[in-house]
Amino acid sequence: MIKDYQSQKELRDTYDFCIVGGGPAGITLALRLAGQGRHVLLIEGGGHEYSQNSQALYTCTSSGLNAYAEETRLRYLGGTSNHWAGRCRPFEPSDFAIPPPIGLPGWPIAFSEIEAHLPAAMAILDLPPDTGFKTINASMGDKDFEADRFLLSTPTRFAQKYASELNETEGLDVFLNCNCVDIEFDDKTHRVAALVVSDYALQRARVVATNFILATGAIENARQLLNSDSLAAGGVISKDGFAGRCFMEHLNMSLGTFILRDGQSTEPRQYFTTDAFVAEYRSGKGNVSAQLLDEVRSYGRTAAIKNFFENLTCEIGMAHKVDFITKFYCPGDGVITTLIEQFPNRESRISLQEERDELGVRKVNVNWALRTEDRQTIKCIGLEVAKCFADAGLGYVKLDESVYDLTLPPKVNPHAHHMGTTRMASSPEFGVVDENCKVFGTQNLYMAGSSVFATGGASNPTMPLLQLALRLADYLNQQAGPVVGRYS
Ligand SMILES: Cc1cc2nc3c(=O)[nH]c(=O)nc-3n(C[C@H](O)[C@H](O)[C@H](O)COP(=O)(O)OP(=O)(O)OC[C@H]3O[C@@H](n4cnc5c(N)ncnc54)[C@H](O)[C@@H]3O)c2cc1C
Repeated sequence: MIKDYQSQKELRDTYDFCIVGGGPAGITLALRLAGQGRHVLLIEGGGHEYSQNSQALYTCTSSGLNAYAEETRLRYLGGTSNHWAGRCRPFEPSDFAIPPPIGLPGWPIAFSEIEAHLPAAMAILDLPPDTGFKTINASMGDKDFEADRFLLSTPTRFAQKYASELNETEGLDVFLNCNCVDIEFDDKTHRVAALVVSDYALQRARVVATNFILATGAIENARQLLNSDSLAAGGVISKDGFAGRCFMEHLNMSLGTFILRDGQSTEPRQYFTTDAFVAEYRSGKGNVSAQLLDEVRSYGRTAAIKNFFENLTCEIGMAHKVDFITKFYCPGDGVITTLIEQFPNRESRISLQEERDELGVRKVNVNWALRTEDRQTIKCIGLEVAKCFADAGLGYVKLDESVYDLTLPPKVNPHAHHMGTTRMASSPEFGVVDENCKVFGTQNLYMAGSSVFATGGASNPTMPLLQLALRLADYLNQQAGPVVGRYS
């Protein structure tokens, strides 16, 4: 049953599982665990719709590259899936088998561990089963770039799709406008004893459960850990530890422009670095998209922006002027854009500020920072794409100077794919959670979402984070043993 915590405060004395965050990860876990007969509490800080008082709690400062952390996340039921674009690309065996070449380990689990949950994650995202991930063009050359494979989700809006299940699943309590503001850790038992929750009138209460799972997105998952004084006092979180560190994005940049050769297809193209390329250059992975400027095919929010500008320029008779200006500044037929892997970097991090939000939780700073190895990845992908494009007879590429001149500042934008801030590792020396997403040093605190990614590959994160959430649900259910006193 979905209730508004602002007016209805009927929490049970205790739950089997308390999940914080009603985005894709939290909703998936809640329905899975309750579906197995567990007593589950899902607390969501926002309401049914966007509201300024909830969104304001995401206010943060930024240093380093701008990750647009305030603008991209949505803080209400359904989370950021309320405006995600739906592109889905699976992780590959090499994402798990080959550690990044930067002195930190990669994933401590085998690819098969998440591959097993791919069909279920695809069903959640309304992707057609058994069709495979498709390409829209052929490979480029025979060595460095293969055709990228992906599928587009409708895109699934989690709050709408699962509204009735969240309301009707027995054993599941969903409370909206219910914000986690503290984690109470007992260092004698190594267990989280309770979460402290608050409504918008600052009325606080303790929530007791056997297990707790944070699913608040990669920035907030780290923030909740860092904000808890008892986790720090108990030694679970330390200044030099990994909580908040290794914040990763996918690098979104314009590599340059291209001119198509006569007779070449004007359809958009998408390529992906081969494992051979990554091994040869010791680089990250990357998707490159080439599309003509006057034929930008877009979806999601890009489509909305495109339509807005089209209508605006037509209405005020500006179309030909805009056309002139864009052609003047773009000496090619099209642009080459990217979704490139960022390697984990301890200095790229979420850190706590002294200032507190309206509910008393300390705010964070997001310092998004690249390594020199990331600049090298961009450079070798750029140079090789340009070469392969010409060799394949497709046309000619003019690279942006910042791609190959590493003394220039990088012109990198985010994809709003936040990852790595509570990374998975086989020991606390290299991460925050173990192979089962349990926070090192605790007996009953787990993390869900892309904060646990050890590396991010060049795959869109939502489908893999659902695969991991489904795996976590199976693990927790198994650990909890047989169901007793179903829904008493
Ligand atoms: C414009 C845009 C386009 C995108 N396109 C794609 C794409 O094409 N493909 C792809 O794979 N990914 C895409 N993404 C990323 C995708 O949206 C995220 O990967 C996904 O939403 C993460 O799910 P989550 O459940 O981990 O976190 P979120 O969706 O961020 O959900 C977290 C939830 O926790 C709640 N919460 C936060 N703090 C608290 C608290 N203290 N107490 C209680 N509740 C709290 C929030 O209200 C929210 O509902 C896109 C993102 C953006 C911004």
